[in-house]
Amino acid sequence: MADPGIGASTHPRTRAPDSVCEADRGPACDHAGVNDPHPPGRASCSRCLRPQATCLCALARPTAHWTEVLVLQHPHEQRQAKNSVTLLRLSLTNSEVVVGERFAPAALHALLHRPGRHTRLLYPDVPAAPAPSASQTATAMPWRLVVLDATWRKSLRMLLEHPALAALPRLSLDAPAPTLYRAIRAARRPDQVSTLEATVQALATLEGPSFDAAPLLDAFGRFVASVAARHRPRDGSGLA
Ligand SMILES: [Zn+2]
Repeated sequence: MADPGIGASTHPRTRAPDSVCEADRGPACDHAGVNDPHPPGRASCSRCLRPQATCLCALARPTAHWTEVLVLQHPHEQRQAKNSVTLLRLSLTNSEVVVGERFAPAALHALLHRPGRHTRLLYPDVPAAPAPSASQTATAMPWRLVVLDATWRKSLRMLLEHPALAALPRLSLDAPAPTLYRAIRAARRPDQVSTLEATVQALATLEGPSFDAAPLLDAFGRFVASVAARHRPRDGSGLA
């Protein structure tokens, strides 16, 4: 859950938060695809799509992995300077980011499933959206991992509004590691981490020791530090 006014997404780990995000208001849009998050005329990097001043390309750490990663990113997250998905996309060679909030069933089915791949949704088994029983069935690689990049409330809404998502076997991470995100987020819950960290931990779970996330996590740490440094002089709190 993102804190109101903070704007960076996190990934729920094992349970729902006690309260919901007050920032989750407004009409839902209905578009998909990777869009330019910055207005025309503003100098942006053509690769990471961020303003040149905050280009993340130099931080990218190409990371070998065999699991396909699909990130369904809420449109609100695409515009957040603190969002971790851009660095994730630049670093995971077999990843795809699709921006949208509501997806037509046929389009979503095409996104979720690939021949020969077992799709898993990175999402906890929560009372508001119980995991299907199929989650208990062990399956083998290769995997296609689906990740929702949104605030807790918006990710839950995306899940509940798309039966195809809710029906996917889940991958739930139940051993939260300390998050690097704390430096640029306020009032963090111990069971929430950034989307990048959650995805990295999921890949480590699926792929085992052959997946080396250390360089990417190191780069993420530097990204968090740079964001914190940019905001600290302006508001004096270290938080955006
Ligand atoms: Zn760039």
